[in-house]
Amino acid sequence: MAIEVYLSEEKIQSRIKELANEINEQYKGKELTVIGVLNGAFMFTADLIRHLNIPVTLEFMSASSYGDGTTSSGKLEINLDIKKDIKDKHVLITEDIVDTGLTLSVLRKDLEARGPASLKLASFLFKPARLEHKVDIDFLGFEIEDKFVIGYGLDFAGRYRELPYVGIYNEGK
Ligand code: 5GP
Repeated sequence: MAIEVYLSEEKIQSRIKELANEINEQYKGKELTVIGVLNGAFMFTADLIRHLNIPVTLEFMSASSYGDGTTSSGKLEINLDIKKDIKDKHVLITEDIVDTGLTLSVLRKDLEARGPASLKLASFLFKPARLEHKVDIDFLGFEIEDKFVIGYGLDFAGRYRELPYVGIYNEGK
């Protein structure tokens, strides 16, 4: 098994600073509730909010549409919900990757029904080739090719989340 570096740590960190600047501009004078989608978005969320200069409240949710392998099961499960009421709050969801768009389209609808003042999405990665459910990404880190990536929060069967870079997982090599 070989991991090929796809997005270096340096490239990721500099893009995240740019995204944080955009978010700081858009939410100037407002308070922001960030909802990180576990497990994949933990690293992106932590790095992104470090560069925010507006008041931030942090929550986490857990939803998955994948099993342990490299293909989608097409099923969404909400495993952990946020503790706070988001009614009239400015909410920013942070996600690791939009692939088929299933997770985010369902999550977004669920959160919208709770009456936030605004609801936006920051996704670290976007794989346009596999999109099946329309999802508007308000802040995007990188658009990527149709490859199964790991690292920087993203796993393969629960492993490799700790890598500071994004790599391409080549099984059998
Ligand atoms: P979607 O619902 O958009 O199809 O998939 C979203 C979830 O699938 C992501 O949060 C992520 O956990 C997983 N996923 C999709 N593509 C990849 C990938 O290339 N690598 C990894 N590790 N997970 C992925």
